[in-house]
Amino acid sequence: LGLKVSTPRSYKLIILGASGLVGSSAFYQASKITCKNSSSPLLHQAAQVLGLDQYPAGHAAGSSHGESRITRLAIGEGMEYVTLAKRSHVIWQEVEKQLSGDFGKLLNIKSDNQTGGLIIGPASEKGEASYHGSAGGFLQQSKMIADINNVKHQLLSNSQLKQTFPQFAFRADDVGYCEDTMGYINPDACIKANLALAKQHGGELRDNEKVLGFSQCADGKIKLTTSKAHVLQEYFTDKLIIAAGPWLNNLVETQNLQVMRQTVYWFRVRPEAREDFMPARFPTFIWNLDSKNIIYGFPLMVNAEAIKISTESYTTVTTPESVDRTVSAEEIACIHDKFIKPYFPAVTSQCVKSQVCLYTVAPKWRFVIDFHPDFDEKIIVASPCSGHGAKHAAAIGEALAQRSLLSKSDIDVIELFKGLELRVIEKESAQLRTRFA
Ligand SMILES: Cc1cc2nc3c(=O)[nH]c(=O)nc-3n(C[C@H](O)[C@H](O)[C@H](O)COP(=O)(O)OP(=O)(O)OC[C@H]3O[C@@H](n4cnc5c(N)ncnc54)[C@H](O)[C@@H]3O)c2cc1C
Repeated sequence: LGLKVSTPRSYKLIILGASGLVGSSAFYQASKITCKNSSSPLLHQAAQVLGLDQYPAGHAAGSSHGESRITRLAIGEGMEYVTLAKRSHVIWQEVEKQLSGDFGKLLNIKSDNQTGGLIIGPASEKGEASYHGSAGGFLQQSKMIADINNVKHQLLSNSQLKQTFPQFAFRADDVGYCEDTMGYINPDACIKANLALAKQHGGELRDNEKVLGFSQCADGKIKLTTSKAHVLQEYFTDKLIIAAGPWLNNLVETQNLQVMRQTVYWFRVRPEAREDFMPARFPTFIWNLDSKNIIYGFPLMVNAEAIKISTESYTTVTTPESVDRTVSAEEIACIHDKFIKPYFPAVTSQCVKSQVCLYTVAPKWRFVIDFHPDFDEKIIVASPCSGHGAKHAAAIGEALAQRSLLSKSDIDVIELFKGLELRVIEKESAQLRTRFA
């Protein structure tokens, strides 16, 4: 490692993880706040907010890649998530308008050419159809939360399901919950849009730059040490947001977080059936099969010939560094035999693409959002994780930015999710230099 390249810069807020869904959302919102509060024109002032990431936007090493993430407003995982999802939808729609569609559609929910979303599960309220730690049946829980929160939805009987969605081979006891506000966001486009808006509002982005460690200085500022192209750099900041996704354990010692390997698949649809899998006819869906298995999937994207379908796996605990990023032929065959062949007669065994992605799983499938215990409310650690954080990322990013820069937030995410014990791995720059030299 070489010498430092320049005089250390100082910021009001640094966001670690700016190429992820959460970090990029916080980066945009923080840049907006500092831009609004600044008295001098942006051109004449140094950036007050810095977004850092070890990779550029669009990378596929973490948790936010792969063209689609399910969103919905009746959050069966728990009532406390509903405000976040609702606020996130508003933010994505505002972002779309601000950028005049330059990044395509970020939020895809029911419209003239979109079907909305469908949760499928057994009619009886059985805990065996639980999902992400929901109490009892996920479908019934979603319906209950929709009723309380006035989320527009419809229940479909088994025969209505078969009639409306012949693309699925439903089982005899399946029923459906349809929500107009269920659909998907495009995470890659959301991140790029966030970064574009952060830049417009004066935020400074430095990617391909890895944060090696952070520590508290005598004057109360936080010092970060980074490495870019093997050159060490230091930054100082009043506040820090750590949105490191599955890398969180490298920076903060958490007692309870496990990184789990997930795989996603794109299976070819028979050419004559493709029209039936287009968004106008085919819903974004979650299907609770039994106590251990769910499958979820999306309609065909524009010009695509294969639909993205996946399940969840809680068997392989791993790290971003050691995870096997290749999906094997055996895995593909197994997914096809177990989850595609029995349930989607018009989907073939040809897998045109597959990806590995990482869940960071917290106890009870909750999120980790809290102040770092050793930094006097100067650092917020934020991992809306456990496989269902994407749909809340926009609102969480806004709340993190507000809390860091304005000392309070419209939605108190820390009150909602605090309490997972965090412990620091403090790394002094001197030690780092030795270790990474
Ligand atoms: C297969 C899959 C399907 C999912 N489906 C859904 C869904 O349908 N609906 C839903 O709501 N959620 C879903 N999720 C969950 C959701 O995608 C995640 O909760 C969300 O993407 C987490 O974003 P993040 O910003 O916290 O993490 P990431 O996107 O992983 O971002 C973390 C960032 O931090 C950076 N970073 C880490 N360490 C350092 C360092 N030392 N220095 C610099 N940069 C660093 C990384 O490079 C990365 O860019 C799914 C997740 C997976 C994997």
